[in-house]
Parts: sequence; C-alpha cells; structure tokens
Amino acid sequence: MSFDFALSAGADDNHYDVIIIGGGPAGATAAIYTARADLKTLILDKGLTAGALGLTAKIANYPGIVGEIGGAELLERMREQAVSFGAKLSTDKVQGVDLEGEVKTLYTNQGTVTARAVIIATGSMGRGQRVAGEDRLLGRGVSYCATCDAAFFRDQDVAVAGNSDEAVEEALFLTRFARKVYLLSPTPELKAPAHRVAEVNANPKLDLRLGASLREILGEDKVEGVRVALRGQGEETLAVTGAFVYLQGGKPVTDFLQGQLATSETGCLMVDREFATAVPGVYAIGDVLCNHIKQAVVAAAEGAVAGMSVEKHLNGRKQLVVDWSK
Ligand SMILES: Cc1cc2nc3c(=O)[nH]c(=O)nc-3n(C[C@H](O)[C@H](O)[C@H](O)COP(=O)(O)OP(=O)(O)OC[C@H]3O[C@@H](n4cnc5c(N)ncnc54)[C@H](O)[C@@H]3O)c2cc1C
Repeated sequence: MSFDFALSAGADDNHYDVIIIGGGPAGATAAIYTARADLKTLILDKGLTAGALGLTAKIANYPGIVGEIGGAELLERMREQAVSFGAKLSTDKVQGVDLEGEVKTLYTNQGTVTARAVIIATGSMGRGQRVAGEDRLLGRGVSYCATCDAAFFRDQDVAVAGNSDEAVEEALFLTRFARKVYLLSPTPELKAPAHRVAEVNANPKLDLRLGASLREILGEDKVEGVRVALRGQGEETLAVTGAFVYLQGGKPVTDFLQGQLATSETGCLMVDREFATAVPGVYAIGDVLCNHIKQAVVAAAEGAVAGMSVEKHLNGRKQLVVDWSK
C-alpha cells in the first residue's frame, strides 16, 4: 500500500499547518491527531524500514493487536489511519531546516516545504561513529543523498552501504545514472519490502552483496574505492568513485537540525511536558528524546500529546482538548 505524494510546485501547496519529520509510531500518531483536528498535515519520512519500528521483525505487545505483527505492517496501519484523516505522506528525507520565526522551512531531497509548526519524530537509529575515510571524503564522493548527487556519477561505479528500504530506493535510483551499483548490506538479508528486493534482484546494474560491512572509504582527495568485510570470507576492495552511506546505529537522529535546537550532553533533544522545544512552534517526540523506555506505545502516546499541543499552539488555546464530535 502506498500513500506517496510528490511535493508540488505551487507555493500554497507546499505550505502546511504542521509538518512531521519522521513517520514512525510517534510521528504517525501525531499526524492522526493533527489531521483529525483539521490541521493541514504533512508527514515526511525517508523510508518504511529506516526507523526502529519499521525494521522490527515482530512486535507482540502493542495494545489492540493480539498475536504477533511485523513492525512495518503495524506502521503502515498507523500511517494509513493518519492518511484517512487527511494527512499527506511523502517518502522524502529532510536534509536541513530553518526553524526560527513563524514560518518554518524544511529542505528535503525533493524540494522545500514550509509550515507553522514542526514536530520532530526522527527516532534514535542515527550513527555515532563514522567509517574510516567518510568525514575526510564527504562531498568528494561520499554522499548521503542519491537523489541529490546521482547525476555526478554518470557511467561510474558506486557503492551504497545499508539494508533499509531507504538504502534500496537510493541504490535503485543510482542505477539510472551509474554504470554499476554495489549494494552492501551489513545483514544476511535486506530489510526492505519484498517487491523492492525483487527489483534489486532483477536489476542488471545492481550487484547485491549480503553480509558485507563497509570498513573504510579509500582515496586521498576523492573516493577511489571501498574496503568491505564479507561475513566469513575476509575482506575485499571494490574500485568505486562514489560511496553512499545509509547505515543505522543507536543515536538520536538530529544531524539535519544543524545545531538549531538545544540537546543534552548525550545528543538528545529537550522538551517540556507538552513536548515543546525552546523554539516556539517546534516539538519533539519519541525515541529522539532518548526516552528511558523505548517502546512503540510510549512513542505513540507522545505523538498524541504533541499533536494536541500543536493544535493548542496554532489555535491560541490555553488547554489541550480532544474534539470527540469528529
Ligand atoms: C530491533 C528492535 C525491536 C523492538 N521491539 C519492540 C517491541 O517489541 N515492542 C515495542 O513496543 N517497541 C519495540 N522497539 C522499540 C520501538 O520500535 C521504538 O521505541 C519506536 O519505534 C520509536 O518510535 P519513533 O517514532 O520515535 O522512532 P522510529 O520508529 O525510529 O521512527 C523514526 C522515523 O523517522 C524517519 N526519519 C529519520 N530521519 C529522517 C529524516 N531526516 N527525514 C525524514 N524521515 C526521517 C525514519 O525513516 C523513521 O521512519 C524495538 C526497537 C528495535 C530497534
């Protein structure tokens, strides 16, 4: 099921009451509340399996779901519910933001969108440690955005490191330009939907390496290769001119904020009881707050509170209210 919606050209079309960055349980639930409160709502999410719930194979403790359910399936249901109330969902990655002032601007892979309020729900699957050579060669062949940079690699060989559907989407996109794309999955299988995996297997330009961990990006002034450890088979060096990195770790995902919001010493965003940050109109929820209890139901509950907080903020109300008549 897909609710994807392309950012359109008209200025009004790209302006929202609220934009939610991250469509995990926190963000999707916030959207259910803001859309139901008739706020024009956009969820931007970089991929169904790029977050904690989306990559979870099975979950059995979410209220109302008896038995086991795949994390991605549960997430799709939450997103479907938000869309049913009028929220728009775009598969897109937020690269930068400008949060000051009444109109917030978000810079994404597909363009620019604006909103009166922003909810950050990007989770904690971000990376702390970089691969050797990554920082030095950033912008010199190392990239985090195929949509932005693929055209620079026309008829060249490139590597994509990652196993989420974000990594798979980006690898497939790169095949339109590159001569050959090595897809390096650190796990023995991709964590992307079956139809996407089928596309990978059918694409003659894609060379999928399973159980392949990116160890180093090689080159002096530009990328010249990648060193890869293959599970149980030692290492190999692949000659490439581009390295696109979509690996996951365990840090709050806040890189796109470029220091515009205060964080704790451990890199966690800080909020008040209504999940408002120190910047008016900007909220944060879910695992990006480094909650003591990282559970889908907790993230969803925070999304509900933040959704109501945004409605209160935008309508100049003093108290949180739920309109049961709808
Ligand atoms: C392996 C594993 C098993 C788990 N098992 C359970 C369980 O059994 N029960 C349970 O309750 N909880 C479980 N959890 C915890 C639960 O999944 C998390 O607490 C919950 O998903 C957090 O929700 P979230 O919305 O804050 O973040 P996430 O679910 O991580 O969602 C964040 C979203 O933000 C998006 N995003 C990130 N950066 C950007 C960007 N720049 N632009 C656009 N989108 C972006 C990602 O694509 C992602 O969809 C598990 C977690 C893991 C890792």
